[in-house]
Amino acid sequence: MQKAQENRDVLAGAWADQEEYVSRVIRLNEEAYTRTGVHPKALVHSFGCQQNVSDGEKLKGMLVQMGYQPTDELDEADVVLYNTCAVRENAEDRVYGLLGQLKHNKEKKPSMIIGLCGCMVQQEHVADRIRRSYRHVDLVFGTHVMHTLPRLLWEAATSGHMVVDITDSENGIVEGLPVVRGEGAKAWVPVMYGCDNFCTYCVVPYVRGRERSRESAQVVQEVRELVAQGYKEVMLLGQNVNSYGKGLAEEIDFSGLLEKVNGIEGDFRIRFMTSHPKDASKRLFETMARCEKVCKHLHLPVQCGSNRILERMNRRYSVEEYLRLIDDARSAMPGISFSSDIIVGFPGETYEDFSATLALIRQVRYDSLYTFIYSPRRGTKAAQMEDPISREEKGIWFRELLGVQEEIGAQRLASYVGRTLRVLVEGYEKTGEGLLTGRSEENAVVCFPGDASLIGQFVQVRARGVRRGALVGEIAPQQSGSSV
Ligand code: SAH
Ligand code: SF4
Repeated sequence: MQKAQENRDVLAGAWADQEEYVSRVIRLNEEAYTRTGVHPKALVHSFGCQQNVSDGEKLKGMLVQMGYQPTDELDEADVVLYNTCAVRENAEDRVYGLLGQLKHNKEKKPSMIIGLCGCMVQQEHVADRIRRSYRHVDLVFGTHVMHTLPRLLWEAATSGHMVVDITDSENGIVEGLPVVRGEGAKAWVPVMYGCDNFCTYCVVPYVRGRERSRESAQVVQEVRELVAQGYKEVMLLGQNVNSYGKGLAEEIDFSGLLEKVNGIEGDFRIRFMTSHPKDASKRLFETMARCEKVCKHLHLPVQCGSNRILERMNRRYSVEEYLRLIDDARSAMPGISFSSDIIVGFPGETYEDFSATLALIRQVRYDSLYTFIYSPRRGTKAAQMEDPISREEKGIWFRELLGVQEEIGAQRLASYVGRTLRVLVEGYEKTGEGLLTGRSEENAVVCFPGDASLIGQFVQVRARGVRRGALVGEIAPQQSGSSV
Protein backbone atom coordinates (compact mmCIF):
# COMPACT_ATOMS: atom_id res chain seq x y z
CA MET A 1 0.00 0.00 0.00
CA GLN A 2 3.05 2.29 0.20
CA LYS A 3 3.87 2.44 -3.51
CA ALA A 4 2.86 5.30 -5.77
CA GLN A 5 -0.29 4.24 -7.54
CA GLU A 6 -1.25 5.69 -10.90
CA ASN A 7 -4.87 6.05 -11.83
CA ARG A 8 -5.89 4.83 -15.29
CA ASP A 9 -6.01 8.24 -16.91
CA VAL A 10 -2.68 9.48 -15.56
CA LEU A 11 -1.67 10.54 -19.05
CA ALA A 12 -4.79 12.56 -19.70
CA GLY A 13 -5.21 16.30 -19.15
CA ALA A 14 -3.26 18.59 -16.89
CA TRP A 15 -1.08 16.00 -15.24
CA ALA A 16 -0.01 14.66 -18.62
CA ASP A 17 1.25 18.17 -19.46
CA GLN A 18 3.81 17.71 -16.71
CA GLU A 19 5.35 14.64 -18.31
CA GLU A 20 8.28 16.52 -19.82
CA TYR A 21 9.18 18.02 -16.43
CA VAL A 22 8.76 14.69 -14.65
CA SER A 23 11.40 13.30 -17.06
CA ARG A 24 13.71 16.27 -16.51
CA VAL A 25 13.59 15.95 -12.72
CA ILE A 26 14.13 12.18 -13.01
CA ARG A 27 17.31 12.93 -15.01
CA LEU A 28 18.48 15.42 -12.36
CA ASN A 29 17.94 12.79 -9.69
CA GLU A 30 19.76 10.09 -11.68
CA GLU A 31 22.73 12.43 -12.07
CA ALA A 32 22.69 13.11 -8.32
CA TYR A 33 22.59 9.36 -7.62
CA THR A 34 25.54 8.75 -9.96
CA ARG A 35 27.49 11.50 -8.21
CA THR A 36 26.71 10.59 -4.60
CA GLY A 37 25.53 6.98 -4.61
CA VAL A 38 22.53 8.08 -2.52
CA HIS A 39 18.94 8.25 -3.75
CA PRO A 40 17.50 11.78 -3.48
CA LYS A 41 14.83 11.96 -0.78
CA ALA A 42 11.77 14.14 -0.23
CA LEU A 43 9.92 15.03 2.94
CA VAL A 44 6.30 16.23 2.74
CA HIS A 45 4.61 17.50 5.88
CA SER A 46 0.92 18.42 5.76
CA PHE A 47 -0.70 20.66 8.37
CA GLY A 48 -4.42 21.08 9.05
CA CYS A 49 -7.46 19.27 7.74
CA GLN A 50 -7.94 15.91 6.02
CA GLN A 51 -8.23 17.62 2.65
CA ASN A 52 -4.70 18.87 3.13
CA VAL A 53 -3.49 15.44 4.22
CA SER A 54 -5.08 14.05 1.07
CA ASP A 55 -3.30 16.70 -1.04
CA GLY A 56 -0.07 15.76 0.74
CA GLU A 57 -0.52 12.15 -0.43
CA LYS A 58 -0.64 13.43 -4.01
CA LEU A 59 2.42 15.63 -3.50
CA LYS A 60 4.26 12.53 -2.27
CA GLY A 61 2.92 10.58 -5.23
CA MET A 62 4.29 13.15 -7.69
CA LEU A 63 7.66 13.27 -5.92
CA VAL A 64 7.99 9.48 -5.99
CA GLN A 65 7.11 9.57 -9.69
CA MET A 66 9.99 12.02 -10.14
CA GLY A 67 12.45 9.63 -8.55
CA TYR A 68 12.50 10.78 -4.93
CA GLN A 69 12.30 8.36 -2.04
CA PRO A 70 9.93 9.46 0.73
CA THR A 71 11.50 10.29 4.09
CA ASP A 72 10.41 11.68 7.46
CA GLU A 73 13.97 12.70 8.40
CA LEU A 74 14.74 16.35 7.81
CA ASP A 75 18.48 15.73 7.88
CA GLU A 76 18.42 13.39 4.89
CA ALA A 77 15.84 15.28 2.80
CA ASP A 78 16.85 16.87 -0.51
CA VAL A 79 13.38 18.38 -0.93
CA VAL A 80 11.30 19.62 2.00
CA LEU A 81 7.71 20.54 1.26
CA TYR A 82 5.46 22.09 3.91
CA ASN A 83 1.82 21.77 2.85
CA THR A 84 0.35 24.54 4.97
CA CYS A 85 -2.99 25.43 6.63
CA ALA A 86 -4.54 28.91 6.98
CA VAL A 87 -7.65 28.23 9.05
CA ARG A 88 -6.20 29.62 12.29
CA GLU A 89 -3.29 31.88 13.11
CA ASN A 90 -1.40 29.35 15.24
CA ALA A 91 -1.14 26.97 12.28
CA GLU A 92 0.57 29.75 10.31
CA ASP A 93 2.84 30.73 13.21
CA ARG A 94 4.08 27.15 13.44
CA VAL A 95 5.12 27.23 9.80
CA TYR A 96 6.99 30.53 10.21
CA GLY A 97 8.77 28.99 13.21
CA LEU A 98 9.76 25.87 11.29
CA LEU A 99 10.94 27.97 8.34
CA GLY A 100 13.26 29.88 10.66
CA GLN A 101 14.80 26.58 11.81
CA LEU A 102 15.17 25.34 8.23
CA LYS A 103 17.59 28.17 7.55
CA HIS A 104 20.28 26.22 9.45
CA ASN A 105 19.56 23.04 7.50
CA LYS A 106 19.90 24.97 4.25
CA GLU A 107 23.22 26.47 5.38
CA LYS A 108 24.53 22.94 6.06
CA LYS A 109 23.14 21.61 2.78
CA PRO A 110 22.74 24.41 0.21
CA SER A 111 21.40 22.03 -2.45
CA MET A 112 18.29 21.37 -0.32
CA ILE A 113 15.08 22.64 -1.96
CA ILE A 114 12.64 24.17 0.49
CA GLY A 115 9.06 24.45 -0.73
CA LEU A 116 5.85 25.83 0.74
CA CYS A 117 2.41 25.07 -0.64
CA GLY A 118 -1.23 24.85 0.42
CA CYS A 119 -3.76 27.27 1.84
CA MET A 120 -1.49 29.58 3.81
CA VAL A 121 0.67 30.61 0.86
CA GLN A 122 -2.35 30.99 -1.44
CA GLN A 123 -2.83 34.29 0.44
CA GLU A 124 -1.05 37.16 -1.31
CA HIS A 125 0.17 38.78 1.93
CA VAL A 126 1.79 35.53 3.06
CA ALA A 127 3.54 34.99 -0.28
CA ASP A 128 4.85 38.59 0.00
CA ARG A 129 6.16 37.97 3.50
CA ILE A 130 7.96 34.81 2.35
CA ARG A 131 9.47 36.69 -0.60
CA ARG A 132 10.73 39.48 1.68
CA SER A 133 11.78 37.70 4.85
CA TYR A 134 12.44 34.02 4.09
CA ARG A 135 14.83 34.13 1.17
CA HIS A 136 16.13 30.62 1.84
CA VAL A 137 12.78 29.31 0.53
CA ASP A 138 13.09 28.08 -3.08
CA LEU A 139 9.50 27.34 -4.04
CA VAL A 140 6.07 28.72 -3.13
CA PHE A 141 2.89 27.47 -4.79
CA GLY A 142 -0.81 27.67 -4.03
CA THR A 143 -3.67 25.20 -4.00
CA HIS A 144 -4.76 25.77 -7.63
CA VAL A 145 -1.48 24.76 -9.27
CA MET A 146 -0.49 21.82 -7.07
CA HIS A 147 -0.44 19.45 -10.07
CA THR A 148 2.31 21.53 -11.73
CA LEU A 149 4.80 20.52 -9.04
CA PRO A 150 7.16 18.87 -11.61
CA ARG A 151 7.53 22.11 -13.62
CA LEU A 152 7.82 24.27 -10.49
CA LEU A 153 10.36 21.95 -8.90
CA TRP A 154 12.41 21.85 -12.08
CA GLU A 155 12.46 25.66 -12.21
CA ALA A 156 13.35 25.92 -8.51
CA ALA A 157 16.19 23.40 -8.94
CA THR A 158 17.70 25.04 -12.02
CA SER A 159 16.86 28.78 -11.93
CA GLY A 160 18.74 29.82 -8.78
CA HIS A 161 15.92 32.11 -7.61
CA MET A 162 12.72 31.71 -5.60
CA VAL A 163 9.89 30.38 -7.77
CA VAL A 164 6.42 31.62 -6.75
CA ASP A 165 3.10 30.61 -8.33
CA ILE A 166 -0.08 31.41 -6.47
CA THR A 167 -2.26 31.72 -9.57
CA ASP A 168 -5.93 31.68 -8.59
CA SER A 169 -7.68 29.64 -11.27
CA GLU A 170 -11.11 28.12 -10.74
CA ASN A 171 -10.68 25.57 -13.47
CA GLY A 172 -12.01 22.33 -12.13
CA ILE A 173 -10.35 19.18 -11.00
CA VAL A 174 -7.18 17.40 -12.03
CA GLU A 175 -7.76 13.66 -12.08
CA GLY A 176 -5.10 11.02 -12.35
CA LEU A 177 -2.41 12.36 -10.00
CA PRO A 178 -0.28 9.62 -8.49
CA VAL A 179 -0.84 8.98 -4.78
CA VAL A 180 1.31 7.65 -1.96
CA ARG A 181 -1.15 6.92 0.84
CA GLY A 182 -0.37 6.78 4.55
CA GLU A 183 0.01 3.44 6.26
CA GLY A 184 -3.05 1.62 7.52
CA ALA A 185 -6.38 0.45 6.23
CA LYS A 186 -8.06 3.87 5.98
CA ALA A 187 -8.01 6.01 2.85
CA TRP A 188 -9.07 9.60 2.13
CA VAL A 189 -11.10 10.17 -1.02
CA PRO A 190 -11.95 13.79 -1.95
CA VAL A 191 -15.35 14.06 -3.62
CA MET A 192 -15.39 17.82 -4.00
CA TYR A 193 -13.09 20.78 -3.66
CA GLY A 194 -13.55 24.41 -2.63
CA CYS A 195 -16.33 26.14 -0.74
CA ASP A 196 -19.02 28.70 -1.66
CA ASN A 197 -20.38 29.33 1.80
CA PHE A 198 -18.32 32.27 3.04
CA CYS A 199 -18.91 31.78 6.74
CA THR A 200 -17.73 35.19 7.94
CA TYR A 201 -14.84 33.86 10.07
CA CYS A 202 -13.43 31.46 7.50
CA VAL A 203 -10.58 31.83 5.02
CA VAL A 204 -11.25 28.56 3.16
CA PRO A 205 -13.41 30.01 0.31
CA TYR A 206 -10.64 32.52 -0.42
CA VAL A 207 -7.82 30.00 -0.58
CA ARG A 208 -9.58 26.95 -2.01
CA GLY A 209 -11.79 28.60 -4.64
CA ARG A 210 -15.34 27.75 -5.71
CA GLU A 211 -17.11 24.45 -5.10
CA ARG A 212 -16.54 21.78 -7.71
CA SER A 213 -17.36 18.08 -7.59
CA ARG A 214 -15.62 15.04 -9.00
CA GLU A 215 -17.66 12.92 -11.37
CA SER A 216 -19.25 10.05 -9.46
CA ALA A 217 -17.63 7.52 -11.81
CA GLN A 218 -14.16 8.82 -10.77
CA VAL A 219 -15.01 8.50 -7.08
CA VAL A 220 -16.51 5.03 -7.51
CA GLN A 221 -13.50 3.87 -9.54
CA GLU A 222 -11.06 5.13 -6.90
CA VAL A 223 -12.97 3.46 -4.05
CA ARG A 224 -13.24 0.22 -6.04
CA GLU A 225 -9.46 0.19 -6.50
CA LEU A 226 -8.88 0.94 -2.81
CA VAL A 227 -11.14 -1.90 -1.73
CA ALA A 228 -9.37 -4.25 -4.16
CA GLN A 229 -6.06 -3.23 -2.54
CA GLY A 230 -7.39 -4.17 0.90
CA TYR A 231 -8.43 -0.82 2.37
CA LYS A 232 -11.22 -1.22 4.92
CA GLU A 233 -12.42 2.34 5.40
CA VAL A 234 -12.87 5.25 3.00
CA MET A 235 -13.45 8.78 4.18
CA LEU A 236 -15.26 10.84 1.54
CA LEU A 237 -13.97 14.39 1.84
CA GLY A 238 -15.28 17.86 1.04
CA GLN A 239 -15.72 21.19 2.84
CA ASN A 240 -19.45 20.69 2.45
CA VAL A 241 -20.19 17.24 1.06
CA ASN A 242 -23.93 17.96 1.20
CA SER A 243 -23.66 20.23 -1.80
CA TYR A 244 -21.90 17.49 -3.81
CA GLY A 245 -23.04 17.27 -7.43
CA LYS A 246 -23.85 20.94 -8.09
CA GLY A 247 -22.49 21.91 -11.50
CA LEU A 248 -21.92 18.34 -12.69
CA ALA A 249 -23.43 17.21 -16.00
CA GLU A 250 -24.87 14.13 -14.26
CA GLU A 251 -27.97 14.37 -12.02
CA ILE A 252 -26.60 13.40 -8.63
CA ASP A 253 -26.45 14.62 -5.05
CA PHE A 254 -24.45 13.39 -2.07
CA SER A 255 -27.10 10.82 -1.11
CA GLY A 256 -26.88 9.45 -4.65
CA LEU A 257 -23.10 9.25 -4.38
CA LEU A 258 -23.33 7.44 -1.02
CA GLU A 259 -25.67 4.87 -2.60
CA LYS A 260 -23.20 4.27 -5.42
CA VAL A 261 -20.18 3.90 -3.12
CA ASN A 262 -22.20 1.68 -0.79
CA GLY A 263 -23.00 -0.53 -3.78
CA ILE A 264 -19.33 -1.39 -4.34
CA GLU A 265 -18.68 -4.98 -3.39
CA GLY A 266 -16.35 -5.78 -0.51
CA ASP A 267 -15.97 -5.65 3.25
CA PHE A 268 -15.32 -1.98 3.97
CA ARG A 269 -17.00 0.96 5.66
CA ILE A 270 -17.72 4.51 4.62
CA ARG A 271 -17.35 7.77 6.52
CA PHE A 272 -17.68 11.31 5.24
CA MET A 273 -16.95 14.88 6.29
CA THR A 274 -17.93 17.64 6.45
CA SER A 275 -21.71 18.03 6.39
CA HIS A 276 -22.91 21.61 6.53
CA PRO A 277 -26.17 21.70 8.55
CA LYS A 278 -27.81 24.11 6.09
CA ASP A 279 -27.73 21.36 3.42
CA ALA A 280 -28.26 18.27 5.58
CA SER A 281 -31.64 16.64 5.04
CA LYS A 282 -33.92 13.75 5.95
CA ARG A 283 -33.03 12.30 2.57
CA LEU A 284 -29.38 12.11 3.64
CA PHE A 285 -30.27 10.43 6.95
CA GLU A 286 -32.57 7.93 5.28
CA THR A 287 -29.81 7.09 2.81
CA MET A 288 -27.29 6.69 5.64
CA ALA A 289 -29.73 4.39 7.43
CA ARG A 290 -30.28 2.28 4.31
CA CYS A 291 -26.60 1.99 3.34
CA GLU A 292 -25.16 -0.78 5.51
CA LYS A 293 -21.54 0.26 4.87
CA VAL A 294 -22.04 3.87 5.99
CA CYS A 295 -20.97 4.39 9.62
CA LYS A 296 -23.74 5.64 11.86
CA HIS A 297 -21.76 8.64 12.98
CA LEU A 298 -22.31 12.20 11.83
CA HIS A 299 -19.94 15.13 12.11
CA LEU A 300 -22.31 18.09 11.95
CA PRO A 301 -20.48 21.30 12.90
CA VAL A 302 -22.79 23.70 14.70
CA GLN A 303 -20.12 26.32 15.61
CA CYS A 304 -22.32 28.08 18.16
CA GLY A 305 -25.62 27.75 20.05
CA SER A 306 -26.82 31.35 19.73
CA ASN A 307 -29.00 32.39 16.78
CA ARG A 308 -27.66 35.93 16.95
CA ILE A 309 -24.07 34.71 16.50
CA LEU A 310 -25.00 32.06 13.92
CA GLU A 311 -26.45 34.86 11.82
CA ARG A 312 -23.30 36.97 12.18
CA MET A 313 -21.32 33.87 11.20
CA ASN A 314 -23.49 33.54 8.05
CA ARG A 315 -24.16 29.90 8.84
CA ARG A 316 -27.71 30.07 7.42
CA TYR A 317 -29.47 27.81 9.95
CA SER A 318 -30.98 28.44 13.36
CA VAL A 319 -30.46 26.48 16.56
CA GLU A 320 -34.03 25.19 16.21
CA GLU A 321 -33.39 23.95 12.66
CA TYR A 322 -30.14 22.32 13.78
CA LEU A 323 -31.85 20.51 16.66
CA ARG A 324 -34.54 19.30 14.26
CA LEU A 325 -31.81 17.78 12.10
CA ILE A 326 -30.39 15.97 15.12
CA ASP A 327 -33.88 14.61 15.91
CA ASP A 328 -34.42 13.55 12.29
CA ALA A 329 -31.05 11.77 12.21
CA ARG A 330 -31.84 9.99 15.50
CA SER A 331 -35.25 8.92 14.22
CA ALA A 332 -33.70 7.50 11.05
CA MET A 333 -30.77 5.90 12.93
CA PRO A 334 -31.38 5.20 16.62
CA GLY A 335 -27.97 4.94 18.28
CA ILE A 336 -26.23 7.32 15.85
CA SER A 337 -23.34 9.29 17.40
CA PHE A 338 -22.56 12.94 16.72
CA SER A 339 -19.50 15.14 16.75
CA SER A 340 -19.19 18.83 16.01
CA ASP A 341 -16.97 21.91 15.69
CA ILE A 342 -17.36 24.84 18.07
CA ILE A 343 -15.84 28.31 17.86
CA VAL A 344 -15.55 30.18 21.15
CA GLY A 345 -15.33 33.97 21.25
CA PHE A 346 -16.60 34.98 17.82
CA PRO A 347 -16.59 38.83 17.56
CA GLY A 348 -19.49 40.26 19.57
CA GLU A 349 -20.23 36.97 21.36
CA THR A 350 -21.34 37.56 24.95
CA TYR A 351 -21.25 35.16 27.88
CA GLU A 352 -25.01 34.75 27.33
CA ASP A 353 -24.40 33.60 23.73
CA PHE A 354 -21.69 31.28 24.96
CA SER A 355 -24.06 29.84 27.60
CA ALA A 356 -26.48 29.03 24.77
CA THR A 357 -23.69 26.96 23.19
CA LEU A 358 -23.24 25.08 26.47
CA ALA A 359 -27.00 24.46 26.61
CA LEU A 360 -27.00 23.11 23.06
CA ILE A 361 -24.09 20.78 23.80
CA ARG A 362 -25.92 19.45 26.85
CA GLN A 363 -29.02 18.89 24.74
CA VAL A 364 -27.35 17.13 21.78
CA ARG A 365 -24.83 15.15 23.86
CA TYR A 366 -22.02 14.84 21.34
CA ASP A 367 -19.54 11.98 21.60
CA SER A 368 -16.74 14.44 20.83
CA LEU A 369 -16.10 18.05 19.90
CA TYR A 370 -13.39 19.92 18.00
CA THR A 371 -13.16 23.22 19.84
CA PHE A 372 -11.42 26.40 18.70
CA ILE A 373 -10.92 29.89 20.04
CA TYR A 374 -11.87 32.36 17.30
CA SER A 375 -8.86 33.44 15.26
CA PRO A 376 -9.20 36.55 13.06
CA ARG A 377 -8.32 35.82 9.42
CA ARG A 378 -7.28 38.62 7.11
CA GLY A 379 -9.77 39.38 4.33
CA THR A 380 -12.77 37.79 6.09
CA LYS A 381 -15.84 39.78 7.19
CA ALA A 382 -15.50 38.78 10.83
CA ALA A 383 -12.00 40.26 10.97
CA GLN A 384 -13.66 43.70 10.49
CA MET A 385 -16.16 43.18 13.33
CA GLU A 386 -15.73 44.64 16.80
CA ASP A 387 -14.25 42.08 19.14
CA PRO A 388 -14.32 43.51 22.67
CA ILE A 389 -13.82 40.30 24.68
CA SER A 390 -10.19 39.70 25.68
CA ARG A 391 -8.27 36.58 24.76
CA GLU A 392 -7.96 35.73 28.48
CA GLU A 393 -11.74 35.87 28.91
CA LYS A 394 -12.23 33.67 25.84
CA GLY A 395 -9.72 31.24 27.32
CA ILE A 396 -11.85 30.97 30.49
CA TRP A 397 -14.98 30.26 28.41
CA PHE A 398 -13.03 27.75 26.35
CA ARG A 399 -11.94 25.80 29.44
CA GLU A 400 -15.53 25.83 30.73
CA LEU A 401 -16.65 24.33 27.41
CA LEU A 402 -13.98 21.63 27.61
CA GLY A 403 -15.09 20.76 31.16
CA VAL A 404 -18.73 20.39 30.12
CA GLN A 405 -17.86 18.27 27.07
CA GLU A 406 -15.45 16.10 29.06
CA GLU A 407 -18.30 15.04 31.31
CA ILE A 408 -20.73 14.43 28.43
CA GLY A 409 -18.07 12.58 26.37
CA ALA A 410 -17.27 10.31 29.35
CA GLN A 411 -20.97 9.53 29.85
CA ARG A 412 -21.39 8.80 26.15
CA LEU A 413 -18.39 6.49 26.23
CA ALA A 414 -19.72 4.71 29.32
CA SER A 415 -23.01 4.13 27.49
CA TYR A 416 -21.21 1.74 25.12
CA VAL A 417 -20.03 -0.51 27.97
CA GLY A 418 -21.68 -3.92 27.71
CA ARG A 419 -22.19 -3.58 23.96
CA THR A 420 -20.38 -5.48 21.21
CA LEU A 421 -18.84 -3.06 18.71
CA ARG A 422 -17.41 -3.61 15.26
CA VAL A 423 -13.88 -2.21 15.46
CA LEU A 424 -11.43 -1.55 12.65
CA VAL A 425 -8.07 -2.33 14.25
CA GLU A 426 -5.42 0.36 13.68
CA GLY A 427 -2.42 -0.96 15.61
CA TYR A 428 -1.00 -1.22 19.10
CA GLU A 429 -1.76 1.45 21.71
CA LYS A 430 1.10 3.84 22.46
CA THR A 431 0.94 3.16 26.24
CA GLY A 432 3.07 0.04 25.86
CA GLU A 433 0.55 -2.22 27.59
CA GLY A 434 0.33 -4.38 24.48
CA LEU A 435 -3.32 -3.63 23.71
CA LEU A 436 -4.64 -3.27 20.19
CA THR A 437 -6.59 -0.11 19.42
CA GLY A 438 -9.12 0.86 16.80
CA ARG A 439 -12.37 2.69 16.25
CA SER A 440 -15.93 1.51 16.36
CA GLU A 441 -18.48 2.49 13.75
CA GLU A 442 -19.63 5.22 16.18
CA ASN A 443 -16.02 6.51 16.14
CA ALA A 444 -15.29 5.51 19.75
CA VAL A 445 -11.70 4.44 20.50
CA VAL A 446 -11.66 0.81 21.66
CA CYS A 447 -8.65 -1.06 23.15
CA PHE A 448 -8.40 -4.80 23.67
CA PRO A 449 -5.83 -7.59 23.90
CA GLY A 450 -5.16 -9.33 20.60
CA ASP A 451 -2.76 -10.54 18.00
CA ALA A 452 -0.90 -8.32 15.47
CA SER A 453 -2.55 -10.26 12.65
CA LEU A 454 -5.79 -8.40 13.47
CA ILE A 455 -4.33 -5.01 12.50
CA GLY A 456 -6.24 -3.69 9.50
CA GLN A 457 -9.16 -6.09 10.13
CA PHE A 458 -12.67 -5.72 11.53
CA VAL A 459 -13.11 -7.36 14.92
CA GLN A 460 -16.19 -7.64 17.15
CA VAL A 461 -15.17 -6.34 20.57
CA ARG A 462 -17.27 -6.47 23.71
CA ALA A 463 -16.74 -3.22 25.67
CA ARG A 464 -16.11 -3.97 29.36
CA GLY A 465 -15.15 -0.56 30.75
CA VAL A 466 -13.64 2.87 30.19
CA ARG A 467 -10.04 3.92 30.73
CA ARG A 468 -8.27 7.19 29.79
CA GLY A 469 -10.85 8.34 27.24
CA ALA A 470 -11.17 4.96 25.53
CA LEU A 471 -13.26 1.83 25.85
CA VAL A 472 -11.48 -1.33 26.94
CA GLY A 473 -12.82 -4.74 26.13
CA GLU A 474 -12.15 -8.12 24.68
CA ILE A 475 -12.86 -9.94 21.47
CA ALA A 476 -16.47 -11.09 21.51
CA PRO A 477 -16.75 -14.83 22.36
CA GLN A 478 -18.09 -16.02 19.00
CA GLN A 479 -14.86 -14.82 17.35
CA SER A 480 -12.29 -16.01 19.86
CA GLY A 481 -12.01 -19.50 18.36
CA SER A 482 -11.62 -18.39 14.75
CA SER A 483 -9.25 -15.46 14.43
CA VAL A 484 -7.01 -15.42 17.50
N1 SAH B 1 -16.04 23.06 5.97
C1 SAH B 1 -16.09 22.68 7.32
C2 SAH B 1 -15.03 23.28 8.20
C3 SAH B 1 -13.69 23.57 7.70
S1 SAH B 1 -12.65 24.44 8.80
C4 SAH B 1 -17.43 23.11 7.90
O1 SAH B 1 -18.05 24.04 7.45
O2 SAH B 1 -17.81 22.51 8.87
C5 SAH B 1 -12.75 23.42 10.26
C6 SAH B 1 -13.24 24.15 11.46
O3 SAH B 1 -12.32 25.16 11.83
C7 SAH B 1 -14.56 24.90 11.30
O4 SAH B 1 -15.68 24.09 11.41
C8 SAH B 1 -14.49 25.92 12.42
O5 SAH B 1 -15.00 25.39 13.63
C9 SAH B 1 -12.98 26.14 12.58
N2 SAH B 1 -12.59 27.46 12.08
C10 SAH B 1 -12.64 27.92 10.81
N3 SAH B 1 -12.21 29.19 10.76
C11 SAH B 1 -11.89 29.54 12.02
C12 SAH B 1 -11.38 30.74 12.61
N4 SAH B 1 -11.17 31.83 11.91
N5 SAH B 1 -11.15 30.73 13.96
C13 SAH B 1 -11.39 29.63 14.70
N6 SAH B 1 -11.86 28.48 14.19
C14 SAH B 1 -12.12 28.44 12.86
FE1 SF4 C 1 -15.31 27.56 5.99
FE2 SF4 C 1 -17.96 27.71 6.21
FE3 SF4 C 1 -16.85 26.78 3.96
FE4 SF4 C 1 -16.73 25.33 6.18
S1 SF4 C 1 -18.59 25.90 5.06
S2 SF4 C 1 -15.05 25.74 4.76
S3 SF4 C 1 -16.51 26.88 7.77
S4 SF4 C 1 -16.69 28.86 4.76
